[in-house]
Amino acid sequence: MNYRVIIIGAGIVGLSIARVLSRYENIEILVIDKNPDVGWGVSKANTSIIHPCHEEDPEKHPLRTKLCIEGHNTWYEWVKELDIPSRWPGEIIVATNEVEYNVLKHYIELARRNSVPGVRLVEGEELFEFEPVINRNSIAGLYAPSAGTIDPIQACIALAENAADNNVKFVLGEKVIDIVVEDKKVKGVITDKNKYEAEIVINAAGLYADEIARMVGINDYEIRPRRGQYILFDRTVRPKPDKIIHTAPTPKTKGVYILKTTEDSLLIGPTAEDLPIDQKEATYTTNDGIKFVLENAKKIINQIPPMSHVIRTFAGLRPEPPDGNYILRFHEEPWGFFEAAGIRSPGLTAAPAIANYIKNLISQHIDLIPKKKWIHTRRRITNFLKLDMNDRNKLIEKDSRYGKIVCQCMGISEAEIIEAIGRMRKIGVKEITFDGIKFRTHSMYGRCQGIFCRPLISLIVAREVGIKPWKITLKGTNSFYGIGFVKELFLKR
Ligand SMILES: Cc1cc2nc3c(=O)[nH]c(=O)nc-3n(C[C@H](O)[C@H](O)[C@H](O)COP(=O)(O)OP(=O)(O)OC[C@H]3O[C@@H](n4cnc5c(N)ncnc54)[C@H](O)[C@@H]3O)c2cc1C
Repeated sequence: MNYRVIIIGAGIVGLSIARVLSRYENIEILVIDKNPDVGWGVSKANTSIIHPCHEEDPEKHPLRTKLCIEGHNTWYEWVKELDIPSRWPGEIIVATNEVEYNVLKHYIELARRNSVPGVRLVEGEELFEFEPVINRNSIAGLYAPSAGTIDPIQACIALAENAADNNVKFVLGEKVIDIVVEDKKVKGVITDKNKYEAEIVINAAGLYADEIARMVGINDYEIRPRRGQYILFDRTVRPKPDKIIHTAPTPKTKGVYILKTTEDSLLIGPTAEDLPIDQKEATYTTNDGIKFVLENAKKIINQIPPMSHVIRTFAGLRPEPPDGNYILRFHEEPWGFFEAAGIRSPGLTAAPAIANYIKNLISQHIDLIPKKKWIHTRRRITNFLKLDMNDRNKLIEKDSRYGKIVCQCMGISEAEIIEAIGRMRKIGVKEITFDGIKFRTHSMYGRCQGIFCRPLISLIVAREVGIKPWKITLKGTNSFYGIGFVKELFLKR
C-alpha cells in the first residue's frame, strides 16, 4: 500500500525527515510551511554549531544526548553529499575563574561518557598559542576538536532541493489551521488556502508544534520561546578566531560564542532570554541583549572589532519544551500522528538523527520499501568569484551573465541570481523574495547589506519573473522594499 505523508514545517527537522523518508518508494511526501520559503523559522537564526556533544548530560537527557552524537556524525556525510558550506575547526570553552574551571572538568567527564573524541584541557601558554585572541586573564580552555559550523539556511535549502529531486513535494506560504481526524485516524490537513489528504501527519512545526498538537486534541506540552541575540561583523574585521570559542555554559545556555562563520564573517552571541509564550515572533534585538553579548565576549577575547564594522544584529527563538527533552512520538489516537517537537538546541546538530528516529518510529507501523534508485547528492550554486581564472573564463564563454557581477561585496554574478530563481521555483517557492535570493547566493550578505546590489537584483528578478520591481518583497507578504515606482507606496496611503 502507498501512504501519503504530510510534514508540517520546512525547518531543519522537517526537511531532514523529508530527505530520510524520500528513500522509500511506498510513501508520497508533502512538506507544508506557512513561510514562502524553506528554513525561515528557528532554523535560519542560530549559532550554527555542529556540537561535539560533550555538553549533553546522558542522565538528564538520554535521548537528546544520543541524537546529538548520532546527528553530529551524520553531518560529516551530509555536508559532503549535499555540498553544504561547513568548517570543522574544533571549539574551546574558556574558563576565567575557578568555578568555570570546574565546569570544564565536568565536561571532560561528560565527554568520556559520551565517547566524544579528543576532548582535553588546554592550560598555560598553550591556550594562547592555540587561539591568540583569547584573553590573557583566562585560566584554562576545554578543547573539543570535532566541533564544526555549517551554514544552517543553506543546509535547509540543500535538504529541500535534494528531497525535491527525490519526488518530495512542497506547499509553501500556506498555514496549517486544522488537522482532519476521522474514525480516530488522521486523514489530512487544512491550510488557510487548501485541504490535503494524508494517512500520516508529522508535526515538525518548531515554536508552534504545541498549537499543531492541540489540533488533534493533544494538550500535554507547551513550547516556550527563548530568545538568542547576535552581532554579525563584516568579513574584513581582524582578529578573528580560527577555532570556535565560547564562555562556560550554564544550565540554561551553552554560553556566548565567538566564531568565524562559513562565509568568513565574525559572529558573536547569543543571549538566552525566556520570553512569555505569546512572544513567538519576538525576533527583535534589544540594547540590553547586545550589551550582554558584548560584555560576555569581552571576558574571553582580547579585542572586539569596532562597532562600525557590525553589518547586522539579529535574534532567533529557541523552541523550549517543558523539561528540555525532545518530544518524538507516535500517537495511536489519532493514528498516524507523529511528533518531532520541542527541538531546542542542539537541534541543528541532532536533526539528521531525529529524522532517522522518526523514520524508525514510522517503520514500526507501516512497511517502508526502499527505493531502487535514490539521489543522494546535490550541488550548491557555483560561486563565480571562488573559481580560478581558467574556470571563470570557461563559465563566461558558456554564459556571459557570469561576467556581470551584481553584488560587489560578495562577488555574486547575474547568472547566480538567475540560477537561484530557478532553484526556488523547483522546490515550489511561489514568491521570489530578496531573502530567498540572499540565502541562496549570499548576495546582499556583505558590508552594504544590499544597499547597492538590491536595485540591480530587483531588475533581474522583475525581468525573469515578469513582475514590477517594486512588487518584489524582502520576505513575503507586505514586506515591500519599494524599489522602482516608490511613489506608488505613498499613493496607497
Ligand atoms: C539562538 C539559538 C541558537 C541555537 N544554536 C544552535 C547551535 O549552535 N547548534 C544546534 O545544534 N542547534 C542550535 N539551535 C537549535 C536549532 O536552531 C533548532 O533546534 C532547530 O532549528 C529547530 O528546527 P525545527 O525544524 O524544529 O524548527 P523551525 O526551523 O522553526 O521549523 C518549523 C517550521 O514550521 C513552520 N510552521 C509552524 N507552524 C506552522 C503552521 N501552522 N503551518 C505551516 N507551517 C508551520 C514554521 O514556519 C517553520 O518553518 C539554536 C537555536 C536558537 C534559537
